[in-house]
Amino acid sequence: MTSINAIETAERRFGASNYHPLPVVLTHGEGCYVWDTEEHRYLDMMSAYSAVSHGHANPRLIATMTRQASQLGVVSRAFYSDQLAPFLEKLCNLSGMDMALPMNTGSEAVETGIKAARKWAYEVKGVAPDKAEIIVCRGNFHGRTIAAVAMSSEAQYRKNFGPFPDGFRLIDYNDTEALKATINENTAAFIVEPIQGEGGIIVPGKGYLSQCAEICRQHNVLLICDEIQTGLGRTGSFLACDHDAVRPDGLMLGKALGGGLYPVSAFLARRSILDRFTPGDHGSTFGGNPLAAAIASEALQILIDDALIDNSAKMGRYMAAALNTLQSPLITSIRGRGLLLGIEINPQHATARQVCERLMERGILTKETHNTVVRLAPPLIIDKSKIDWAVDRINATLQSFTNQP
Ligand SMILES: *Cc1c(COP(=O)(O)O)cnc(C)c1O
Repeated sequence: MTSINAIETAERRFGASNYHPLPVVLTHGEGCYVWDTEEHRYLDMMSAYSAVSHGHANPRLIATMTRQASQLGVVSRAFYSDQLAPFLEKLCNLSGMDMALPMNTGSEAVETGIKAARKWAYEVKGVAPDKAEIIVCRGNFHGRTIAAVAMSSEAQYRKNFGPFPDGFRLIDYNDTEALKATINENTAAFIVEPIQGEGGIIVPGKGYLSQCAEICRQHNVLLICDEIQTGLGRTGSFLACDHDAVRPDGLMLGKALGGGLYPVSAFLARRSILDRFTPGDHGSTFGGNPLAAAIASEALQILIDDALIDNSAKMGRYMAAALNTLQSPLITSIRGRGLLLGIEINPQHATARQVCERLMERGILTKETHNTVVRLAPPLIIDKSKIDWAVDRINATLQSFTNQP
């Protein structure tokens, strides 16, 4: 048995230290649980940043993946495959969008959305060459590529990675007046997360998104929602936009689209945006490959067949209600929607990281976002008994910080 120290040392010797993992070495997973090298079981309240909504080793997804992998894996878009069109059709129908462009990671879907919005601005809206602007929100997270970092307001994400591409304007999140004031004749799009996930599970005021949609419509600006984290049932509806009855002009999906097994993402949009692309404009060697298409199709089908979206809404309400009964000076607030919840920790008592470390000792795995928020985002298949167990452990963990001599 290799010790945690040996594994940490080896990873740090041969791998860049761009993450700070909790000291646990996982070897297998099933459903809502993962196990470490010593067969300790943990409830996964992290779900790989919401990528594992279907649970670990979902049998239908494993079957689809192995069947398709032995049938046909990757051919590139130089040829048609029998898997891509049915997947895109299903994805468009479920999300109410006209067309989709498949990629792999979330960041690539974001990059695709930026390119699509700019192309639309020049070719349809008539913005002067190289003048297109995209408005984004402070506290956003749109990924780690250079363009995504150029959109970020987070100093650490940017430090020593410049120079950055131009054409992004930052405004405060949850501020429709700022949106109005920042739009000009060169504005191509407003890109926004319906709930800021990595930013600390920040839920905007009621009606924010629908007001943004109205402002964008009035000014011929595209409303593009980054639902890479909030989409596919995570917040209790298929899209988080659905809570506000908003149909955006463009939409990024990723994470759970790959069923927790494979990177699959897409940028979806109205026809008038995505039909600007012609062969050679944009692409990806792996994007939309048969294996990806088969897995993502099945991942979407399972959301429906197993009523995971409804379960997310119900279990999310149940967990939020249970968490709200907890009495601890560590809790500043509890926020979120569906099964995307966060506990804001009072920094006078503990850092969120310390809480996560003690949760781990009690069999719950999750990760802080920023220094003060403990994220709770289990697989969407979770049930009441597991939530009861988890809330009990969370309570004991919080008490452990204040009961000390
Ligand atoms: C995770 C995330 C991304 C980036 O996805 P990657 O697959 O890590 O590139 C973009 N936007 C949001 C809202 C995310 O949560």
